[in-house]
Amino acid sequence: MARADAAAKPLSLARPSARLTSVVVETFDQLVAQVRACAACAAELPLGARPVIQVSPTARLLIASQAPGSKVHASGRPFDDASGDRLRDWMGIDAVTFYDAARVATLPMAFCYPGRAAGGDRPPPRACAARWRESLLAAMPEVRLTLLVGSYAQAHVLGPGALTPRVANYRAYGPALFPLPHPSWRSQLWMRRNPWFEAEVLPALRATVAAALR
Ligand code: SF4
Repeated sequence: MARADAAAKPLSLARPSARLTSVVVETFDQLVAQVRACAACAAELPLGARPVIQVSPTARLLIASQAPGSKVHASGRPFDDASGDRLRDWMGIDAVTFYDAARVATLPMAFCYPGRAAGGDRPPPRACAARWRESLLAAMPEVRLTLLVGSYAQAHVLGPGALTPRVANYRAYGPALFPLPHPSWRSQLWMRRNPWFEAEVLPALRATVAAALR
């Protein structure tokens, strides 16, 4: 979902990450094309490679999430499922704003559906973030707020640690980062056990998101 008008915009990074040195990447859209063509770990993916990201060089808010689910794999649209409805409600924005790539980017820890495991989806393949994340972040210099959605994104950015105390202590990570639980159906159970999230964190999240997009 990279913006077409970004095609001629030179990348701000002087060169792609070390893992991409065999590829000459001169524009944002060339980088995104490389990502969309990636099949590096397709052999591990039960439905094959279908990278689903939403990026643009003007995005102000970044949703750092886990990995697409099966519905998102089918549609090719980030958070095009019940988790997305919940996340948009938490953020206080509608679908039009959420899918406005000029303002909102979605970059999971892995871009393809990893398949099922007992109790849920498999973890995002680590190779994906190692391969692509650095280059894509460098190509989105306007990002001022990153939502760390779920434990995988938090572990990648913040290191090891428990999710619930991080969410409760969200102020410590501002203004650039905001840790959140993953908005899967399990989050409903988690919210019942942690009522402070709805009472205190969500109003703060909505205000922070609105300020970042203003
Ligand atoms: S998960 Fe990432 S590294 Fe693996 S095939 Fe998809 S885009 Fe490539």
